[in-house]
Order: sequence, then structure tokens, then C-alpha cells
Amino acid sequence: MMPFPISEANPPEHSGDLPDRADVAVIGGGVIGVTTALFLARAGLSVVVLEKGRIAGEQSSRNWGWIRVQGRDRGEIPIAQEAQRLWPELAAQVDTDIHLTQGGVAYLARDDAEMGRFADWVRQAEPFGVSTQILDADGVARLLPQAARRWPGGLWTPTDMRAEPFVTVPALARLAAKAGAVIREATAVRLLDVEAGRVTGVVTERGRVRADAVVLAGGAWSSLLLRRHGIAIPQLSVRATAMRTAALPDVFQGGAVDDRLAWRRRADGGYTLAPEGYHELYVGPDAVRAFFGYLPQLIKDPMGTALRPAAPRGFPDAWTTARRWTAGDVSPFEKMRVLNPAPNMDKVRATAAAMAATFPGLGPVEIESAWAGMIDTLPDLVPVVDHAAELPGLTIATGMCGHGFGIGPGFGRIIASMVQGKPAGHDMSRFRLARFFDGRKLEPGPNL
Ligand SMILES: Cc1cc2nc3c(=O)[nH]c(=O)nc-3n(C[C@H](O)[C@H](O)[C@H](O)COP(=O)(O)OP(=O)(O)OC[C@H]3O[C@@H](n4cnc5c(N)ncnc54)[C@H](O)[C@@H]3O)c2cc1C
Repeated sequence: MMPFPISEANPPEHSGDLPDRADVAVIGGGVIGVTTALFLARAGLSVVVLEKGRIAGEQSSRNWGWIRVQGRDRGEIPIAQEAQRLWPELAAQVDTDIHLTQGGVAYLARDDAEMGRFADWVRQAEPFGVSTQILDADGVARLLPQAARRWPGGLWTPTDMRAEPFVTVPALARLAAKAGAVIREATAVRLLDVEAGRVTGVVTERGRVRADAVVLAGGAWSSLLLRRHGIAIPQLSVRATAMRTAALPDVFQGGAVDDRLAWRRRADGGYTLAPEGYHELYVGPDAVRAFFGYLPQLIKDPMGTALRPAAPRGFPDAWTTARRWTAGDVSPFEKMRVLNPAPNMDKVRATAAAMAATFPGLGPVEIESAWAGMIDTLPDLVPVVDHAAELPGLTIATGMCGHGFGIGPGFGRIIASMVQGKPAGHDMSRFRLARFFDGRKLEPGPNL
């Protein structure tokens, strides 16, 4: 099994010569790039995935592993449902146990106002046929009989799932390779290859790859590359800390979150824990530019995002990160192969203590490892999945806003269809690139 967190110290699983051309070049070997490549290869197209570091080295291995419909934006619910249909099929096809479990997801309310937000979401989601229920205080107590805390109620989706991300995405990459996708790690894309206003491939640190279509699934790095080509999306990334406990008694098989912490059971007998609703934003040039776009989010949840004056060197929005480079320059992408932020250890200690206080029967909650990831986000909390009208040949799939793992195979399937000029199968208007430029007010998605 892959040592975690995935870093440059992990030997690449996918290496070899770089093809000169492919039908489709995919930038980024996270869950979005990998599942896109899988569905493209299965459709008979030649596809190359170019990953600057390691498959799933960034967010796609560092996340909580929740696969949820609960709390999703109206535009995303049917896609998350499609993903939940795809997950068991994929789990049966990969060469590794990804620990896919239908343990459900519960949100535990702090107060009546939060219960009101849960009820609003259920009203919007009901037409899609979700299994979500509103629980009262007794319902939550029945769900979590070992909890010392009593919550006024909750939102509960028994059909939601979980899987172990750091095992899952590398396994999906091997499945894509088996289907014919060529995957190359340690291969940064420096620039898009643009001829007469059309994208004709990519320029990598190892040479050019010509391609009829290019998919950008670069997670936290997408906006840096796009801005270099004149497309300025207000994408930022925030540091999110998570941790793994030692093996502990079973108090709940699913994922749950309240106002202090999030937890979910792991197959190794421990829990993945995280401080709830706490992210850290490093202020850099992009953050300054995008400030007013994010203001409504900051006002709505002032305690949710802590501002830090500057990102560590080499981060996508660090003050010293290059914004202009040429095909011959070492690009910011290869200067940071795997974005590996340090976890916030104060939050790690507080979260472990909150878990122990919530479930006194667990005894001391010992943390075996802690890590962080940079979550890429957009002001309206939904991604961009769209062809770039400004650069024909380019499809952008980024800004998964903290929920790209679970919905990943759904978007992967859709992006593969879009690239082939086939119908997406869902209304994609919510994920338009032009929403940032057409002067209309953005409609924020649910921050649930
Ligand atoms: C702590 C944490 C908890 C989370 N919890 C959940 C959860 O429970 N459920 C959920 O659904 N989601 C969760 N998420 C969010 C989820 O992990 C992301 O939305 C998802 O992984 C994004 O996938 P991606 O493929 O778009 O990006 P990434 O996984 O970030 O992959 C992008 C890849 O592109 C590569 N790349 C970028 N630029 C270049 C370039 N120029 N050349 C070559 N390669 C490049 C990067 O190295 C990277 O590997 C969480 C995230 C974090 C950090």
C-alpha cells in the first residue's frame, strides 16, 4: 500500500516515454483527471494524463473520503447521485479494496437556525429522490447512542458513502492505465500549446504533446496556468487540516460533523478527524484580487476562514510565485511537485480532545498522523466544468470546492462525454466558465 501522505519520496507508479500525440491530454492526476481519462480510454480515445508530482499526491489523497449527496448544490445533486451509482461498479473493477462503505453521512445541528438551513436543503433536494431525513434530538441520540453530547437535531442521509482516498485514486489510475490511458508522473505541463488561437496540445517539462483536446484538472494550480493564458478565474485555495487516530472502538460507521469536529470510521479501525468549518487562507495576489467576490462567504461564516499573511514559498498564490514564464523556463508547477502543507497542530490537539469529549467511551484519542491539503475553491462554491470559449480545444474542470472526491467519477464521466462532443447527460449551466465574466451576480451554493 502507498505510504501516506503521498510525496515525492513515493516512487512513481506510472513512468515511461512521453507520447508525441494523443486524442486528449489531461493535465492533473487527481480524481477528476484520472476518472476523465478512465472514461475517455473506455470510449476508445487515446489519452495521456500528465501529473507534475504523483497521482493523487494533493487533495485527492488527503481528503476525508466522504462520498455524499447530502448538502450538495442543486446543480450537483444528480451528478453526485450518478457518482454514487458509479462508485460500487468502480470498486468492483479496481485491483485494491478501496473500503467503499455505505455508512451514511450525518450533520449535527448547533441550533434551530441550522435546523432551518437543513430543512431548506431538504426542500430543494426532495425532487431528486434523495434518502435524506431530518432528525430531531431523539433521532440523533438513537443514531449516536454512545455520544455524551446532545444535539438539537440533524440531517441524515443513510445512502451516502465513504472510501479511503489515498488507496482509491491510485487504484482508479491503474484501472485507467489498464483501459489504455497513458499516465506520466513527474511530468509538469508548463504551458498550453496554442496555435492560431486554438489549443493544439501541451508543452511539458519533457517536451510537447500534441492533442486534439486538452482537459485542465489541475486542482489548486488551475488558475495559475489559466491566468498565464489570459483566463482569470477567481479560484483560491485554503489549507484544511485532517488527522488519523489509532484504532478505537466503533461508535459510528458513517461520517458525521457538528460545530466542533468531523469524523468518519476508517477500515483500519481508527477515525479520520478534522476540525469542522475551519480553513486557513494565505493572502497572496490572487486572494487580494478576488477579495470582493469572496466577501459574501466571509460575512456568512466569519469564523470559518482564518487569514494568514503569506503562503509558504512555492504555493500557488505565494507572493513570490512566478506569474509569467515561457516554455523554456522551469515553471511553478515543477518547483512544487506535491503541495504538502503542514497541518495546524493546535487544531489537531483540539480536534482530538473534542472527539474524546464527544465519545468518552473511546478513552484517550491518540493521533497517529496529521496532514493538510489545499482545497481549491470558487466564490459560489461550485466548480467550473466547461469548454473555454476563449481557447477552443480546452475544457476546464476545476474548483471542486471541498467535495470533488465523492462526485469525482460523475464529473469524470461527464467531462469525457463533453470532450467527445456528446451530451453531458445533466444540466451543466451551473458550472459555466462565463458566470465569472458576464456581469451577473453569482448565486452561492449551499455551504453545507
Ligand atoms: C482535508 C480535505 C478534506 C476533504 N474532504 C472531502 C470529502 O470528504 N469528500 C469530497 O468529496 N471531497 C473532499 N475534499 C475535496 C477533494 O479532495 C477535492 O475536491 C478533489 O480531490 C479535487 O480533485 P482534483 O482532481 O480536481 O484536484 P487534485 O486532487 O488537487 O489534483 C490536481 C492534480 O493536478 C496536478 N497538477 C496541477 N497543475 C499541473 C500541471 N501544470 N502539470 C501537471 N500536473 C499538474 C497536481 O499536482 C494535482 O495532483 C477534501 C479536501 C481536503 C484537502
